[in-house]
Amino acid sequence: MIQVDLKGQNAVVTGATRGIGFGIAKALSAAGAAVACIGTNAEKLSKSVDEINAAGGSAKAYICDVSKSDQVEAVSKQILEDFGGKVDILVNNAGITKDTLVRVMTDEQWDDVIAVNLRGPFLMTRAFVSAMRKKKYGRIINISSISGLIGNRGQANYSASKAGVIGFTRTVSKELANRNITVNSIAPGFIETDMTAVLDPVIVTEMKNRIPVGRFGSPDDIANAVLYFASPDSSFVTGQVIAIDGGMIM
Ligand code: NAP
Repeated sequence: MIQVDLKGQNAVVTGATRGIGFGIAKALSAAGAAVACIGTNAEKLSKSVDEINAAGGSAKAYICDVSKSDQVEAVSKQILEDFGGKVDILVNNAGITKDTLVRVMTDEQWDDVIAVNLRGPFLMTRAFVSAMRKKKYGRIINISSISGLIGNRGQANYSASKAGVIGFTRTVSKELANRNITVNSIAPGFIETDMTAVLDPVIVTEMKNRIPVGRFGSPDDIANAVLYFASPDSSFVTGQVIAIDGGMIM
């Protein structure tokens, strides 16, 4: 992993139960940050947090559905209380897919994906931004997708949510820049997690052929970019979106 010193900093990572979010939480912890790990599956989240702590980190589990206003409000209050009112880094990573062609997409499939992937980052950002403004410091990192940049057949809901995350990132970056709070977005390509484990093997081979580096990425590939955006040294970088996709959409 790239070397960044985050000792004394507190981070919140949504969707830290597994996959990319767990990779991000481990990386922030290894860099010295205390990490509040958010997810909905209590058993799996607790296993992930135990693994971080067993490696010498300082992580705590918080159960919260990021699409629910009342839950986000309650969990953010609890985290701020537990972390002495100081949250330096917020990573909005939790996300879901409900893929199908637009002509047969149900209202629920549309609403559910927009709620977790777009409303979630809005609710979480709103919940922590006052604490960051007070300290005149913050790093907000929103996980989008290359699907939000170029679209993807069968993902009208997901692609719209991830494009929304980019617009949200750019606007909030403008609102918070004068408080030393940066807001950036990462658009992963195909990364090996539960989300891509369900893909048809034929599609996997087809996709790998379209990735110039010839492989799917790992959660560490995304975590390295998060470390950069989370670092105090990236203070002049805000409102950006970086595709981490093995060169796929170049
Ligand atoms: P994943 O393996 O399916 O994990 C999703 C994570 O989100 C889990 O930790 C899950 O925790 C959490 N989550 C889901 N719904 C939630 C909710 N309502 N409230 C709180 N947490 C919730 O997915 P991933 O591949 O790691 O993806 C992570 C992020 O990267 C997502 O935003 C995804 O869209 C994006 N991304 C992934 C890829 C890829 O190829 N994998 C590509 C581009 C973008 P629980 O199980 O505890 O709910």
